[in-house]
Amino acid sequence: MGSLNTLTVRQAVDHLEQGACSSEELVRDLLSARTALDGTIQGYLQMDGERALAEARHADADRKKGRRGRLLGVPLAVKDILNVTGQACRCGSRILDGYTAPYDATAIARLRAEGAIFVGRTNMDEFGMGSSTENSAFGPTRNPWNSACVPGGSSGGSAAVVAADMALAALGSDTGGSVRQPAAFCGCTGLKPSYGRVSRYGLVAYASSLDQIGPLTKDVDDAALLLGVMAGPDPRDSSSVEALVEDYAAACGSDLKGMKLGLPRDYFVKGLEPAVEAAIRAAIERCRELGAEVVEVSLPHTSVAIPTYYIVATAEASANLARFDGVRYGFRAEGAEDVLEVYAKTRAQGFGPEVKRRIILGTYVLSGGYHDAYYVRAQKVRTLIRRDFEDAFKTCDAILAPVAPTAAYRLGEKMADPLQMYLGDIFTVPASLAGICGLSVPCGFTPAGLPVGLQVLGPAFGESRVLRVGSAYQKSTDWHRRRPALAAEGGR
Ligand code: GLN
Repeated sequence: MGSLNTLTVRQAVDHLEQGACSSEELVRDLLSARTALDGTIQGYLQMDGERALAEARHADADRKKGRRGRLLGVPLAVKDILNVTGQACRCGSRILDGYTAPYDATAIARLRAEGAIFVGRTNMDEFGMGSSTENSAFGPTRNPWNSACVPGGSSGGSAAVVAADMALAALGSDTGGSVRQPAAFCGCTGLKPSYGRVSRYGLVAYASSLDQIGPLTKDVDDAALLLGVMAGPDPRDSSSVEALVEDYAAACGSDLKGMKLGLPRDYFVKGLEPAVEAAIRAAIERCRELGAEVVEVSLPHTSVAIPTYYIVATAEASANLARFDGVRYGFRAEGAEDVLEVYAKTRAQGFGPEVKRRIILGTYVLSGGYHDAYYVRAQKVRTLIRRDFEDAFKTCDAILAPVAPTAAYRLGEKMADPLQMYLGDIFTVPASLAGICGLSVPCGFTPAGLPVGLQVLGPAFGESRVLRVGSAYQKSTDWHRRRPALAAEGGR
């Protein structure tokens, strides 16, 4: 196996431009890495090697003909929730068995226009519902740092393949933490853009008022590069906004002098694992040394963020997932006598237990007698949470926080008790409810050798700020360069 799979996207672009390697060689190294490593990790659901090589050769030929593109010939992995023309798109679910995407998501189309190629689909919690990738209908993904542990979720496959050097970078989606938290658990970089920054067209909807596509990468520079390509308004998504797309690459590289960073006292509370807290505190110190002023801020509605999120997200999911009825997409159950039975049997057989639980909960909170008590109330609390951040950003430029209260836990540890799993989302869902942006960067390890992530939160459309903080931090640390020692064993 060569070692081109260990490159960052920026390095790969340089290599390709200088003729130091071809796209075909890059893809070959990724295929070998996957063959060697993915038997244990199971990060990919699918990788069509022949097709990937054909596309790579195509990119190489295009380059010879003089075509240029910011990502020409760069292979990327994609979470199984994004439509890529001609590829299966199953969202980690049986209910989409047999569905092939007939179009590109806008984010995919924009990356493709710059020459990127999409080489594999990564595992995920079914429809994005989960925090450990154990809710995939196709079996769990394992954490490259310790295969007895979960990779986080729901974009656990994307995080694991990046951390294990089976991809240069991957796309994920973040509804309540699904890019940031698996990035933290696997020791890679993950960016959740502000709501509206990246078009959701072609991203299968979980909770439409929260979903955002984000990159999982080996460093902040790559996150900036990919965001720069994907960002911007799209007539096909009315929730995408006109807000200025800044030069994100330029934001990386400045120091932290003159920046005010807020520490939310409400995030440093009981339940935060001491080893995680220690790593975060050390990272805060480092930011201070880099010239930032650190001030305390308060986000007083943090304690009600979990119930608020799980009401809003399940309500929207119950409506969004109604389209999977055995008629329009994918799987249809056999032996139904009439149309209602088609719906009932298809959904009973096609959805997993967590998805069913959430559809039932979401239907309940929207139902006649309870709508005002739960859904409307949750929307009001959501406003309070958004205002918490607006107030905090009056006194600081960005916020530093943990991504999750713990590092990766063992497979099976939280599966019996969904509420325990939900509580792990406490530090990621507030930003999602507020629609602001957040970045997760590696900032240390627990004594057990598991990565810890530092979360940098910025105001809506303030991606440049969080990228600036993350990049300055990464340039003075090497946590993001550490790689797990992996045992070679074949792929799915
Ligand atoms: N863990 C959260 C949930 O299960 C967030 C998932 C996500 O961001 N897709 O809803």
